[in-house]
This record gives sequence, structure tokens and C-alpha cells, in this order.
Amino acid sequence: MNNFTFYTPTEIIFGKDAEAKTAEAVKKHGGKRVFIVFGGGSAKKSGLLDRIEEELKTEGIPFEEFGGVQPNPTVAHARAGVKAAAKFGADMILAVGGGSVIDTAKAVAHGASNLDTDIWEFWSGKKTVERSMPVGVVLTISAAGSETSNSAVLTNEETGKKCGINTDFNRPAFAIMNPELTYTIPRYQLACGIADIMMHTLDRYFTHETGNNFTDRVAEALLKNVVHYARAAMVNHKDYEAMSELMWCGSVSHNGFTSLGRTMDFGVHKLGHELSGKFGVTHGASLTTMWGAWARTVYTDAPERFAQYAENVWGVSVGTVEERARAGIRETEEFWKSIGLPLSFKQLGIGVQDEETLEYLADMCTDYGKKTVAFFHPIDRETALEMYRRANH
Ligand code: NAP
Ligand code: FE
Repeated sequence: MNNFTFYTPTEIIFGKDAEAKTAEAVKKHGGKRVFIVFGGGSAKKSGLLDRIEEELKTEGIPFEEFGGVQPNPTVAHARAGVKAAAKFGADMILAVGGGSVIDTAKAVAHGASNLDTDIWEFWSGKKTVERSMPVGVVLTISAAGSETSNSAVLTNEETGKKCGINTDFNRPAFAIMNPELTYTIPRYQLACGIADIMMHTLDRYFTHETGNNFTDRVAEALLKNVVHYARAAMVNHKDYEAMSELMWCGSVSHNGFTSLGRTMDFGVHKLGHELSGKFGVTHGASLTTMWGAWARTVYTDAPERFAQYAENVWGVSVGTVEERARAGIRETEEFWKSIGLPLSFKQLGIGVQDEETLEYLADMCTDYGKKTVAFFHPIDRETALEMYRRANH
């Protein structure tokens, strides 16, 4: 086995009615003035926000609301949150929502704890986060895994750059996870979430590193489980068993457990982020658009690994290594297609792009060719361009 560090400090409170324990969790984790971050309104409409605020009132914990987080959250909005949280004197940020809300909450926590630093300095890599305040989460969508992950993704609306930072300060103190809260997710968002859950493991699975057999088996089991329950969830989004399996897989897929002893690759995420940065498309859909283009470019680097994936996740057992590897890529794409996800620029709804736009995307992805992203198959500007071209139909 390769060496690894595993740090997942988030307390998980999982199951029906879990949100009734929010105030208790806030107190346990030291929250005395709580700044509540939420999105475009789903948490208000469902009554969830009211229920949480009632709990806080009953416990005598002062709070302030900060709504309006949009999908692919912007640094400008997070900056407004930093200001408001500092003015309120918050000592805990409570995210009620999905990845966009949670990531904004993380940014607000870092910003309000470092008022001398503009938060984009952290996201652009100029500064590292050295202190922050606890973030609690009430999760409403199974997707990003931000409720336990060490990352947070923001978009700089001025430059169109979307990127994440990884730091243990991003690990939430607690996550309240009631699968019933996810019953109202719109169908397309549900599918996009399923893709993102899978991609957090897929973006870790393809590697040249050997050893850590258990890591592979966990990853394959997670992927199989997600595919199985995704099919059920797409038929009935109030299927508690399916929605709870997806919810827990969403966390495990991005808390580090499926990459122990491995270097995380995340090439497909980087390629996808540029599509969201430029076109504002939903994260999960940006990933399924790019994955096939990525996989067909790189699978010859490690066909055995792709064949293993095909066999252990999709049950492909016949054919040569090459044939099985290709069949696994096809099966993955067929599955995404079956739940309504795009596999090309056209299907993503952005149309076929001209060469200049593809060059722009490749430039943004590799910082104008100055850096190479990913590890399994390093993606330089030319490679990124090739992958965008492949998806451009
Ligand atoms: P999201 O962007 O947080 O939410 C997507 C949409 O779903 C929103 O319109 C939201 O509406 C709606 N929604 C959420 N819960 C709902 C519910 N229970 N009922 C009805 N509608 C609901 O989705 P996400 O996929 O979780 O997050 C995506 C973001 O996370 C992207 O920016 C992505 O890059 C990032 N990400 C972060 C990580 C990480 O580790 N930090 C990892 C992967 C991706 P409302 O706004 O009205 O609530
Ligand atoms: Fe993701």
C-alpha cells in the first residue's frame, strides 16, 4: 500500500428528520452567532429555512440570513457575504443548500476570518488560508460532496475563471443529511448531481499508481451503487432508499476515501470548469460533456485499467483489453445519455463552437499554456485543445 493521510473531521447527522438536530449541532460546534447562507429560494419555499430558524430561536442563538447564491457561485456574491457576516459578527457559517451554497459559505468563513485579504487571493493561489471559522451544512442536493470535501469552487465573474481551492479549512464541522430534503430537486439537477458524484470517483480512479487494492474496490462499489440507485431515483425521486444511497455516496465520493494512496487527477473537472466559467452550464453536465473526449484521448495510456473499470463497474467481461476498455467508455456514456445528460457541446446546449473559442477554453484551462493540469495524462494546452475539439459536435 502507498502511504496516505485521511482526514474527514465532519460530523455526519444522517437520516429522516436530521434537520431537527441543526441547533444542537450548531451549539456542539461552538456557534453563538450564525450566518445562514442559502440559494435562489428552494430552501425558503420548502419551509426548511423557517424550521431551522425556529430551532435557533428556541435555543436563543442569534442568526442572520444571506440568500441569493446562484449555481456556479461568484466571488462577487461571496464578497458581499463576507461583508455582511463580519458586520453581524458571525462565528459560524451555516449553509442550507447544495454545493454552490456550501462553497459560498466556505468562502464567507475564510473571508470573514481574514478581513485584510480579498477572498480571490485565496482562490487565485496568491495566499493560503491559515485560519477560518466553522461551517455547518444542511444539505439539500446530492451532488458536489462539498458537505465533507476539502474543496470550494468559485467563479470570478470578471474573468470567467472558475476554480477551486483545497484546504482542510474547507472541511465542514458538521453536515445534516436528510435524504427526504432532496425529493424536490428538479430532474435535470438530479441527473447532474449523479454525474458529479460519479465523476469525483472517476477523476480519482484513473491512475498509473499501483497498490491500494481496497481503494479500487471501494471506488468500483461506489460507482456501481450510484448507477444502480440512480436508475431507481430517476424513476421515482421520492424513493427513500435510492435517494439516501445517492446522498451518502455523494459524500464518500468526495471525502477522499476513493483515492487513498493515490494522487487525485481531476483533469475532467478542470476541463469542465471552463465550460461553466464561459457558458454558465451546470457542473455535472459540463463533466459528462468532457469525459468521453478525455477518456478516448487517454485510455491508451493504461488500457488495462480502463478494462478493469469496464469489468468491475459495468460487467464487461468479453473481448480484448482494448475492446473492453472502449466498451467501458461506451457503457458510461450510454448510462449518462439514458438519464438525460449531454455528451457533446451541442447536447450541452452551447452549440458547436469555432476554433477561437476552443483555443480560449484551452488557454483558460492551462493558464495560456503556462501550466499542465492533471497527473494520469498531463493535460497541456495542445491536449486540452484536442479534448475540446473531440467534444465539439
Ligand atoms: P447547486 O448549484 O448548489 O444547486 C443547483 C440547483 O439545485 C439550484 O438551482 C438549487 O436551487 C437547486 N436545489 C438544490 N437543492 C434543492 C432542493 N432540495 N429542491 C429544489 N431545488 C434544489 O448544485 P450542486 O450540484 O450541489 O453544486 C454545484 C456547484 O458545486 C458547482 O459550482 C460545482 O463546481 C461545485 N462543486 C463543488 C465541489 C466541492 O467539493 N466544493 C465539488 C464539486 C462541485 P436554490 O438555489 O433555490 O436552492
Ligand atoms: Fe464536481
